Amino acid sequence: MKHQEAQRMDMTGNQDNWGRVRERLRAEYGDATYNSWLKNIELDKIDNGHVNMTLPTRFLRDWVINNYANRIRQIWCSEDDNVQSIDIHVKPATTGNMEARTRKPPTLGLGEIIETFEPAPRNALRADQTPSLMAPLDPRFTFDNFVVGKSNELAHAAARRVSDARDTVPFNPLYLYGGVGLGKTHLMHAIGHAIAVNCPNKKVLYLSAEKFMYRFIRALRFKDTMNFKDQFRSVDVLMIDDVQFIAGKESTQEEFFHTFNALVDQNHQIIISGDRSPTDLEGMEERMRSRLGWGLVADIHPTDYELRLGILQSKVEQAKINIDQRILEFLAHRITSNVRELEGALNRVLAYSDLVGRAVTLESTQEVLRDLLRANDRRITIEEIQKQVAEHFNIRMSDMHSARRARAVARPRQVAMYLAKQLTSRSLPEIGRKFGGRDHTTVMHAVRKIDELCAADQSLSEDIELLRRMLEG
Ligand code: ADP
Ligand code: MG
Repeated sequence: MKHQEAQRMDMTGNQDNWGRVRERLRAEYGDATYNSWLKNIELDKIDNGHVNMTLPTRFLRDWVINNYANRIRQIWCSEDDNVQSIDIHVKPATTGNMEARTRKPPTLGLGEIIETFEPAPRNALRADQTPSLMAPLDPRFTFDNFVVGKSNELAHAAARRVSDARDTVPFNPLYLYGGVGLGKTHLMHAIGHAIAVNCPNKKVLYLSAEKFMYRFIRALRFKDTMNFKDQFRSVDVLMIDDVQFIAGKESTQEEFFHTFNALVDQNHQIIISGDRSPTDLEGMEERMRSRLGWGLVADIHPTDYELRLGILQSKVEQAKINIDQRILEFLAHRITSNVRELEGALNRVLAYSDLVGRAVTLESTQEVLRDLLRANDRRITIEEIQKQVAEHFNIRMSDMHSARRARAVARPRQVAMYLAKQLTSRSLPEIGRKFGGRDHTTVMHAVRKIDELCAADQSLSEDIELLRRMLEG
């Protein structure tokens, strides 16, 4: 009794502290930022000085962790001496309404592993499911929100095909592969959403290979493998994300192999993603690799400029954000690693402008993303830029450094400075030095001038676009 009482007191105290932490966050960051990012944080519990909080989506969580975690921890520590660390988890979807909960027969049979494929937001958590294993579909990962370009059109078309197929299995398995952050998980979730709409009776199971392994090992431990097998083999569509995870894990592979064969035999659809092609999956048994390549193998290539720009435009349109097109172009040019980073960059720029209450400019973008830009630097050198520009405008390389002021050389020189600012992470003084030791204000003037001219002069802006492509290509 006493103990319970103490616990209850504790919890009230924690909530009080949490209330104060929230108020301080709101005061520090302002209403706009607070409402966009921090408002939905909930306190779950405090364990031995470890504060557990939740947010409803992975996106929000990642964003808050990356940008506010330090400050949140500091504030917590100052409000409660016992606090040592904090963490934020994605809150399992418990918002499913009763209708969704009871609509499916309780004998669905996939136990806690099924990640329900109700179209969002009807993701329901059934009573027999363990919350920690739920990874509901991300409602943002739909076909509507997927921007198609050259690099992903095959994967996208294949994903559409399996989602639209009612009675047939167009190819088995569908194997999607590509580098990190290029949209594999997005496509798989999109398939899940689409099947829930097109064929609501189909049982769909989506899980990561890691979770598959975890479930399998648990089944072994609890001598429950029969049940495990039945659960997997009774689905109509099985999706396993990041299959490379089970490379080198022999018994899991063995079990997966049997599950795979059983489903293929019954003509049930399997969709697999991996970070490389089936033949390149080291640590995967030969027979498994060959099976994975049986159906359609669709690779997602790194993005090109058009796709990156398209993705950014679609994001700002969805979010109804007003932002200068040139900022988007700049990001699409410079953040080339993957879409996840590209989105992260955009969010950072927007959050910053929100925070300081000023519109986004090219300068603030470069400032906020300094680290990211350096990491994405494809190391185009100022010399390369000078050479390319000199060739293009038919002037001598030495004119880049010379003091000549004739328009015929001065303009190309300004173009080169402009491109150096845009395509490298060099500072204005550094750029100035490379142009015959000019002052940083000269470079700044050049950048502004070319910016202005481009807005008015179509042919100059085309020249620059062309140069940029050559340099990046
Ligand atoms: P992967 O699973 O290949 O590592 P994800 O599917 O998790 O990558 O994608 C990373 C992020 O990029 C997600 O937020 C996703 O929505 C976004 N994304 C990737 N490709 C596209 C695209 N073609 N259109 C819109 N968003 C995309
Ligand atoms: Mg993924």
